[in-house]
Amino acid sequence: MIHLKSAAEIDVIARAGAIVGQVLERMVDEVAPGVSTAALDRAAEDMIREHPGAEPAFKGLYGFPASLCTSINEEVVHGIPSEHRVLESGDIVSLDLGVRLEGYYADSAVTLPVDHIEPETRRLLTITETALQVGIAEARPGGHLGDIGEAIQSLVEGDGYSVVRELVGHGVGHAAHEDPQVPNYGHAGHGRRMREGLVIAIEPMVNVGGRSIRTLSDGWTVVTADGSLSAHFEHTVAVTAEGPRILTAPPVRSAAQGGDQVG
Ligand code: MG
Ligand code: MG
Repeated sequence: MIHLKSAAEIDVIARAGAIVGQVLERMVDEVAPGVSTAALDRAAEDMIREHPGAEPAFKGLYGFPASLCTSINEEVVHGIPSEHRVLESGDIVSLDLGVRLEGYYADSAVTLPVDHIEPETRRLLTITETALQVGIAEARPGGHLGDIGEAIQSLVEGDGYSVVRELVGHGVGHAAHEDPQVPNYGHAGHGRRMREGLVIAIEPMVNVGGRSIRTLSDGWTVVTADGSLSAHFEHTVAVTAEGPRILTAPPVRSAAQGGDQVG
């Protein structure tokens, strides 16, 4: 069952989402060679708790043990932070984060480079982030979920990459995961029709090689079956009469916060 959200509810999700966006933006400064994924998780949780009432949404969700999912290189999603997983120059690391605030949820992910990455690796990140943007552009009242899927799939496959199918985007807001499912593949004009008040997480997972995945013996970490690199970008988006509204963008910094005032 799909729960459409009121404008007031969307504003609360946007406040949760601004925290998610701000934390992920600040994680750029934490990601460096020699840093463990457990240290990233601690930093993210500390940043969330700077905001009164905000809590990490993923900690304990379905039994996940951490606040942040940290997935390196061929890991697609759901990597568990560990003191023993240390970032190296040339890696990419996907960071997936959810925040709960006043009973509402927001969810976003980015894939960040660790120090210097190869141009081909940079290209994977660019394609995946662009795929997210073209998907978001289709989140309009009266459109179909297949519009989002086709936009993402055609861009990604047109560039010779593949789209993970077993894992999809989802409704979000009252819970971390709600109906409907939002596949990153499909056909325009097919699937559920989107209405004003629909809030969805759009989250393409893009592989350099084949689209097949498998889950490691830890029961969580999803990797590409062929060991190729994978990237993941995600935003929580509201379908509004004015068009798609991204709810997990970082707040725009004022000059007072940015420290770049002159004089
Ligand atoms: Mg997520
Ligand atoms: Mg999600």
